[in-house]
Amino acid sequence: MEKLKAGALKLGLHLTPGQLEKFEIYYQELVDWNQRINLTSITDYEDVQVKHFLDSLTIIPATEPLDNEQKLNVIDIGTGAGLPGIALKIVLSDISLVLVEATVKKTKFLRHVVDRLGLEDVEIAVGRAEEIAYGSKYREKFDLVLSRAVAVLPALVELTLPFCVVGGRFIAQKKGDIEREIEQSRKVITIMGGSLREVKPIELEEPDDKRYLVIIDKIKPSPAEYPRRPGIPAKKPIIS
Ligand code: SAH
Repeated sequence: MEKLKAGALKLGLHLTPGQLEKFEIYYQELVDWNQRINLTSITDYEDVQVKHFLDSLTIIPATEPLDNEQKLNVIDIGTGAGLPGIALKIVLSDISLVLVEATVKKTKFLRHVVDRLGLEDVEIAVGRAEEIAYGSKYREKFDLVLSRAVAVLPALVELTLPFCVVGGRFIAQKKGDIEREIEQSRKVITIMGGSLREVKPIELEEPDDKRYLVIIDKIKPSPAEYPRRPGIPAKKPIIS
């Protein structure tokens, strides 16, 4: 895990031997399960360290202003093989974490890895964000809502902001040219009770493509009728 260790240092994170060992096990389980179920197209040892693990940890510097005495409640929407959620939990062991994933077989992997790594206070919520967002345990309950590589930003905002407590924050990890996506999201951000705080470029040598954190503050509750029915946010995103 040398690549991960070196990259994390550039983010100001000193990973401990215990944390690096957990990432090593996570890697081994990921490539092992990936032979049976489709979890990722990235399997090379160095690529996984940089493009999955390190990339997931880039959100940590953006979470710091939220850090307070209380336990941080975090939810990862469309976590897939557990990214960024599990990577974050390995490093910030004190957070309370919910992983939302619609594909049942992926959630079997998540269960296995969470047990194998001995991670505590991690819940796996199986289903679609459009439905889970109506559960009283989940709606407007999270200080930090995360999502990586799940949908275009206007759809994502509809899916994620209902989970976020007023005063909390949504961080979307995005790649490539996002200016247009941002412009198209202004209306839905307002509707859902959000306020765009910052689009933060990630400044790392590796991964070497353009990556950003889109950081949205939750300033008002989301209207009760959102998100719309499963599939609708992605099919008919609210675009400005
Ligand atoms: N966040 C992971 C996975 C990205 S792939 C990563 O960055 O590697 C997108 C994942 O989101 C898939 O596993 C898909 O099943 C899940 N997903 C897409 N739409 C969803 C929805 N509406 N509710 C829950 N999960 C969803």
